Amino acid sequence: MRRQSQCWMKWQRKTRRRASEMIGYDELKPRLTRSKFRSRFHLSEADRAYLAERGLSTIRGQAKKIIRDRLSAAHPFNDGAQTPMRGHAVFVAQHATGCCCRGCLAKWHGIPEGRELTEDEIESIADVIAGWLTDEAGDLSKIPHTPDLF
Ligand SMILES: [Zn+2]
Repeated sequence: MRRQSQCWMKWQRKTRRRASEMIGYDELKPRLTRSKFRSRFHLSEADRAYLAERGLSTIRGQAKKIIRDRLSAAHPFNDGAQTPMRGHAVFVAQHATGCCCRGCLAKWHGIPEGRELTEDEIESIADVIAGWLTDEAGDLSKIPHTPDLF
């Protein structure tokens, strides 16, 4: 197991290299900040503890699974209401970044509704979610978590 601080840095280097048509979190952030609705979403202490415990690469993997299961179909089940307001850090991040349903993905990220998401789009959405989580979580090193085994 790698220490999680290395995972965050590794992920940041990786995202900078990836070319994507979707704008990245850094560019998106000023727009999100101006949205009253988006900017009211924040991680709970339990969410932050979970992030500290599991590390970002695990959470990013979970984000990809959630996107695949709930958003990637051309016409997702229950679209517009498929993302709970709380209960998982990724759900909160999805609302905070306009990645919660296909209508919001269209409005905030220019991804058309009515067709399946591409692999590149799933990766880019996971990057935006991970970017927000990194920014929102702040310094997690002070949060006690189970020490790495190796
Ligand atoms: Zn939405």
